[in-house]
Amino acid sequence: MRSLSEKVAGIAPSATIEISNRAKKMQREGIDVISLSIGEPDFDTPKHIRDACIDALNRGETHYAPSNGIPELLSAVSEKITNENRFPCKPEQVIVTCGAKDAIYEGMEAVLNPGDEVLLLTPAWVSYEPCVQMAGGKIVKHAVNQKTFQLDDSILERVNARTKMIVVNSPSNPSGAVFDKKSMNLVADLCQDFDLYAMSDEIYEKMVYGKEHLSLAAIGDMAGRTITINGFSKAYAMTGWRLGYAVAPTEIIKQMSKVQQHSVSQATTFAMWGAVAALRGDQRCVEEMRAEFDRRRKFVISELNLMGYTTAPADGAFYAFVKVSGDDMEIATKWLEQGHVAATPGSAFYAPGWIRLSYATSMEKLREALQRIRKTGGN
Ligand code: PMP
Ligand code: GLU
Repeated sequence: MRSLSEKVAGIAPSATIEISNRAKKMQREGIDVISLSIGEPDFDTPKHIRDACIDALNRGETHYAPSNGIPELLSAVSEKITNENRFPCKPEQVIVTCGAKDAIYEGMEAVLNPGDEVLLLTPAWVSYEPCVQMAGGKIVKHAVNQKTFQLDDSILERVNARTKMIVVNSPSNPSGAVFDKKSMNLVADLCQDFDLYAMSDEIYEKMVYGKEHLSLAAIGDMAGRTITINGFSKAYAMTGWRLGYAVAPTEIIKQMSKVQQHSVSQATTFAMWGAVAALRGDQRCVEEMRAEFDRRRKFVISELNLMGYTTAPADGAFYAFVKVSGDDMEIATKWLEQGHVAATPGSAFYAPGWIRLSYATSMEKLREALQRIRKTGGN
């Protein structure tokens, strides 16, 4: 047989998904594993959102829809962005995708040519690099400050004539850090000075604790060069619905639209009606989930600190990023095999020596998981 695609062979599997699959397999085998490995809210999708989807199904919204998304959802997103994120957005600047991940992939395909470089601020989530690679580009990594998890001028050293884009993810998966105004302005200045595009993944925007979420596209002329990524998975506990969106200048949306038309066609029609209800409906559910994440966050961080661990500033998202003393892969394996607690090693996020714990699970499970980690001897 002839060899398969070298491009795809060169891409790593998703560590977050692989570890979660492994934990699920152990659970199926009857092992009582607590999974803190995947970033997924444990709440059910709020009822009014589910009802809107069921109503849509029952009234026959089971056909193809406009490929960029149903007009009602494009308008709801454009109003949300204009009012909440504070940069102007028309419905034609929106594309609804199969999860935020799909928006990231389509955005990379739309912007990159072979050999283009993309600046990735590390620690970084696992899927940006594969999306860049699939689009023919190359990642150039730049580590943020390991204490503050903010950005400084040293990033200038990474920019060259091939640099085309920078990826920003605030609040950050995996570190939980939220970029302050200074870091965001630095990114904006960099993009303006070197004529770069930006991808700003704001999927955790609703999960901030005592900090302000800043949208990159709201700074200066950044709306004209930024692809803002967002979705419904985290804010509305809709991970399995596979719904996300991108907001960008229309020239970019037109290119993303072609990628979408020739791959997935569109997001699921009746699911999009649920998303309309999510954006147009009562937002108290979002605040209730945020408040619960905050309660768990305080507990987990204080327990970890009492155990002697240093943690990254957990100002956003739902991850505790823990500094370990030793090989993160070995320690995570020990926690899984001896303690039956699944966590994701920092190496998967270009941050060896750290481990990511998702606190998007019940207090009871979190308490038990920390107890088990303690029993394994930690490290
Ligand atoms: N961006 C980040 C930073 C994430 O953590 C995730 C997690 N799934 C995504 C994007 C993708 O979200 P979705 O489930 O909407 O594809
Ligand atoms: N984003 C979540 C995580 O980091 C879900 C899994 C994934 O899509 O990577 O765990």
